[in-house]
Amino acid sequence: MSAGRGSSWAGAEIPNAALLVIDVQNGFISEAGELPVPGGAEVIPAINELLPHFPVRVATQDWHPRDHGSFASRHPGAKPFDRGELEGLPQVFWPDHCVQGTRGAELHPALDQSRIQAIIRKGMDPATDSYSGFSDNAGKNPTGLDGYLKARGVRKIYVAGLALDYCVRWSALDARRLIPEMQVHVIVDATRPVAPSSGAEALRDLGHAGVQLVQSAEVLAGISRAGAV
Ligand SMILES: [Zn+2]
Repeated sequence: MSAGRGSSWAGAEIPNAALLVIDVQNGFISEAGELPVPGGAEVIPAINELLPHFPVRVATQDWHPRDHGSFASRHPGAKPFDRGELEGLPQVFWPDHCVQGTRGAELHPALDQSRIQAIIRKGMDPATDSYSGFSDNAGKNPTGLDGYLKARGVRKIYVAGLALDYCVRWSALDARRLIPEMQVHVIVDATRPVAPSSGAEALRDLGHAGVQLVQSAEVLAGISRAGAV
């Protein structure tokens, strides 16, 4: 949809584009959250500003059963952030987080949820973790997000949210892998990593995979130019 003569860019949208808002949940953000990402709350104003400019707006939600295998508490002797294996795959053991139906699993109240059209829940299978919004890490449980995006005519995806080095990274890489014709962007100032070193590694990986790294100001400026007369 292009803005007509005399219209304000404030209502303009990026044609055929989806904003994918990854895991903006209390458990990853609140000071009292279970697995707070440093600076996590800072992504929310940027995401709220971007949301009205996308015709397709999807959120994901980490949604674990209490006995999820990614929790350090399920592995005797393991401490949170230790590395080990889960069903033969490398696994970081996390603090218990985003348990189904708990406050930690709810989307953060500052996120403008009225704009969200679909919520994809992931991480329900206790035997595998699920970083990507498209599938779990073992590839056993596709969420159907790729089909949803195709059915809505999406040709460009913009990924934001938490955390850059895990769920944002794997969602963007899966988008590239599963829908080769899709243009995939990560909005760098609208995400934060769990750790700076793995955040830098994620940016390198994403660049090598052909994901475009952009700033929210660039995205908004592009809409402004497109809407100008
Ligand atoms: Zn999780």
